Amino acid sequence: MKGLIKLAGVLGLAAGLFLLERKRPLRSERESKTRRNGRNLAVAGLGALTIHFAESPIIYPLAKIVERRRWGLLQWIHLPRVLQGLVAVLLLDYTLYLQHVLHHRLPFLWRFHAVHHVDLDLDASTALRFHFGEIALSIPYRAAQVLLIGVDTQILFIWQTFLLLSIMFHHSNVQLPMSIEDRLVRFIVTPRMHGIHHSNDPHNQNANWSGGLTLWDALHRTLNLGIPQQEVEIGVKGFDQPEQVTLPTILTQPFLDDSAIRAFLEAPRATN
Ligand SMILES: [Zn+2]
Repeated sequence: MKGLIKLAGVLGLAAGLFLLERKRPLRSERESKTRRNGRNLAVAGLGALTIHFAESPIIYPLAKIVERRRWGLLQWIHLPRVLQGLVAVLLLDYTLYLQHVLHHRLPFLWRFHAVHHVDLDLDASTALRFHFGEIALSIPYRAAQVLLIGVDTQILFIWQTFLLLSIMFHHSNVQLPMSIEDRLVRFIVTPRMHGIHHSNDPHNQNANWSGGLTLWDALHRTLNLGIPQQEVEIGVKGFDQPEQVTLPTILTQPFLDDSAIRAFLEAPRATN
């Protein structure tokens, strides 16, 4: 039942964002939306299979063990249930921020995360475009989050739902009125804020790493809201032609020799 509610929420948000992206686009698009969406959904399909067959069979049983044996921080300290859930979501969101930084800083992880970043435009479909290798490599990190924070199955499900809705929203190409965006961005990541992270300028890319709450970028002084979207060119320098980001290319890119993906590997080091 809760799976159906999550699916309805995701499909409802996807439909709403899809319509708004056509009606009020935030950035002009370089590639055909139909072609890009098809490609992104193909990458997402492989990602969904990886989650179904590799991530969920490890993470959910682990959360059950955490619950039964009372392992992890939040199982040791006794908090009212609602507060326990809130603290867990905060800690999961913060550790996700740290993981995102690692995905940019460590060349081995960046070669997989770059598949998400070489999309030449940014919309709700990009939110689902994570290479299956990135998802598989994230399993030990996700397991450590569950184990150390003490996340049970219910909280894990709520956080994963919240995260999926959040990433679909902030990757979307929807132009919100500035008055709304300005208020929202004080609390949660917005399309303009995350658009700056997807800029092909490494200085802008090394900012706005938060996945849910803006707070973590604010605390780490990595928040950058000062770039108008008209100045943002989405993608990764050196990979700006449609023929460089076709489906077979992006799926195989992480496994190629270093010299073939020099632009990928140099991007995270080119700070400021
Ligand atoms: Zn990123």
